Amino acid sequence: MLLPEAREAVVEHCLRMRADDLTVATSGNISVRVGDLVAVTPSGVPYDRLDAAAVCVVDLDGRPADPDATGPVVPSSELPMHLAVYRATDAGAVVHTHPLYATAVSVLLDELPAVHYMVAALGGPVRVAPYATYGTEALARASVEALAGRSAVILRNHGATTHGPDLATAYTRSLYLEWLCRLWHQASLAGTPRLLPADELDRVAELLRGYGRPAGGAVTTS
Ligand code: 13P
Ligand code: ZN
Repeated sequence: MLLPEAREAVVEHCLRMRADDLTVATSGNISVRVGDLVAVTPSGVPYDRLDAAAVCVVDLDGRPADPDATGPVVPSSELPMHLAVYRATDAGAVVHTHPLYATAVSVLLDELPAVHYMVAALGGPVRVAPYATYGTEALARASVEALAGRSAVILRNHGATTHGPDLATAYTRSLYLEWLCRLWHQASLAGTPRLLPADELDRVAELLRGYGRPAGGAVTTS
């Protein structure tokens, strides 16, 4: 079996994605890049029935790469978006979710504002990409455009996507994004949130590069 560890990691994080309420039923998808290959969730398979053998492996053009692959599974309908992110960035993993608060933000705002310093861990205020039908090249293009300089994007009337150097980091960014959207929502119910200025986000981004490290290491969330 090609990429056994990447496949296992995809399955494990799909189960977490459900347990953490980052998505509903079979919505959402996850991929991991290893060299010129990508392990990606199959389309429409319930996560509690997903196993490593059902995870698809494709090349960077989306062609099936596993000669041992059998059965009716097809790669996620959002494969164009995952591949577009890999082409445009140095990401090692992509996580696409349908979380409640990020999706609420997607229909209300053009950008998630700097309501908390952890916005800096996502590269700055997170843009909302214009709506395009799920699974299309148009959605892939809109997502990558809105991701410029960011590791997260909110998809209008749809959900959210994050990326990172590895799956743990990409996944943690999805958790942070949803928490930040929830914070914005809760605060907005009670008043007008005060926001942080861009120079403070720059300062925090610099600090986070050494967060949790004795001297200058990289943090998993920035
Ligand atoms: P897949 O089941 O094809 O991955 O689609 C889920 C989804 O979130 C589409 O946007
Ligand atoms: Zn989706």
